[in-house]
Amino acid sequence: METIFLEQWLHNIIRQKVKEDPEYRQFVGKESIDQLTRADIDLYHLFKLRKIVSYAYQKSTFYRELFNRSGIKIDDIRSLDDIANIPLTNPIDIAQHPYQFACVSLGDIARITTFISSGTTGPRKRVFCTGGDLEVMTDFMAAGMRTVATEGDVVQIMLPSARPNDQADLLANGVRKMGGLPVISGTSLSPEQQLTIIGQAHPTILFASVSRMYRITQETRHNHDLKGKGVKVVFVTSEYLSDSMRRQLQDAWNCDVHVHYGLTEMGLGVAVECHAHNGFHFNEADLLVEVVDPQTGAVLANDEEGELVFTTLTREAMPLIRYRTHDISKLISSPCECGAATLKKIAKVTRRLEGIARIGEGDEIYPAMFDELIFSIPEVIDYQLTLGKEGGKDILLFRAEVTKESQHICEAIGKVVLSHSLFRKSVEAKRVALPKVELVSRGTLRRLTRAKKLIIDERRGKC
Ligand SMILES: [Zn+2]
Repeated sequence: METIFLEQWLHNIIRQKVKEDPEYRQFVGKESIDQLTRADIDLYHLFKLRKIVSYAYQKSTFYRELFNRSGIKIDDIRSLDDIANIPLTNPIDIAQHPYQFACVSLGDIARITTFISSGTTGPRKRVFCTGGDLEVMTDFMAAGMRTVATEGDVVQIMLPSARPNDQADLLANGVRKMGGLPVISGTSLSPEQQLTIIGQAHPTILFASVSRMYRITQETRHNHDLKGKGVKVVFVTSEYLSDSMRRQLQDAWNCDVHVHYGLTEMGLGVAVECHAHNGFHFNEADLLVEVVDPQTGAVLANDEEGELVFTTLTREAMPLIRYRTHDISKLISSPCECGAATLKKIAKVTRRLEGIARIGEGDEIYPAMFDELIFSIPEVIDYQLTLGKEGGKDILLFRAEVTKESQHICEAIGKVVLSHSLFRKSVEAKRVALPKVELVSRGTLRRLTRAKKLIIDERRGKC
């Protein structure tokens, strides 16, 4: 199996650091590094962590006050484990006080992103980047894209595209950096129109959000020969990809499917799946990743599930230290099947804290639980889940958009939902009502963004 390019890329960055930075040479006590081990990467992370903590203390009002309040001193950070003494940064902090995080003057900021990532009711967050930050971000996009692409590949980008330095534009720069040709077709075109561009531009790689890629595939596969389009990789991002959706995409395009995991706060690109398709290798040149207990904030061991917490190691405009993502996953410690022996991995991100609801006697439900089941029905294009009350019990309403409306599909959806053991038990114990399924006309759910993946809870005040 092909080793992920990111490993070589990271090793080269560290070797270059040894070559160019006398302070780093002194820190590691080596004049050069030939064969890198995990210990060399950990040492690099410790060096960068100390630098970014010191930089944030000097330049950011938020971190200066936070570190003063909690008595954090740079000399107290002697090992990577010492990071646990630094308080966590919450998304609400950057929503409420974005300018207190800025470490450069406004004149040096090349990009400001204002966004909501936790559903329609979440606070608006603001993230700043310098021109240097954007270069670092697109360097990673180039390295990540090299997982699946080579020089000369044509990459069709179906991401929001309205102005310079937005998602599509930055990824296009990343594609160019690795010697590929980007074609931006944006997000406003219909599936048929996207397919027309595919026919004209002959992309070898398609890049889109999971729901957009799935919709394009489902709406066009019966009228077009997608297998004959010459696409070798479908690269999806932004949402959870269930195994059933992956199989459908692979089958429709007769190609490999890779998943990207990104976060706007972390510079959009964070992690990519290697050829083992079992978790994500992440940008270890710029990010330190921990997993913490979402309730207590305590650091969890590898392979324990909890909330992902990131520290940016190179960000100039707005470094984030121990930033809570609200995404639930785990760090995988065993060596990857792809052969990358020195890289860590993040497991599938199954849910966000905001996307979890409780039904019946407090059982946890989240959309990815149902994705696996509902997308196993080939006719489903997309669905939306609403939680209500009926006769004092919780009830789940699935609104599904399908390629061919029929009572048979309606029944099939109800049946697969009931096949989930947790849900079936709740229904049998009469704690939860039988689910309802409603088919909606084609295109109804098209305009919904990733926020739709949150369960819509309409139970408040009802019984
Ligand atoms: Zn791997």
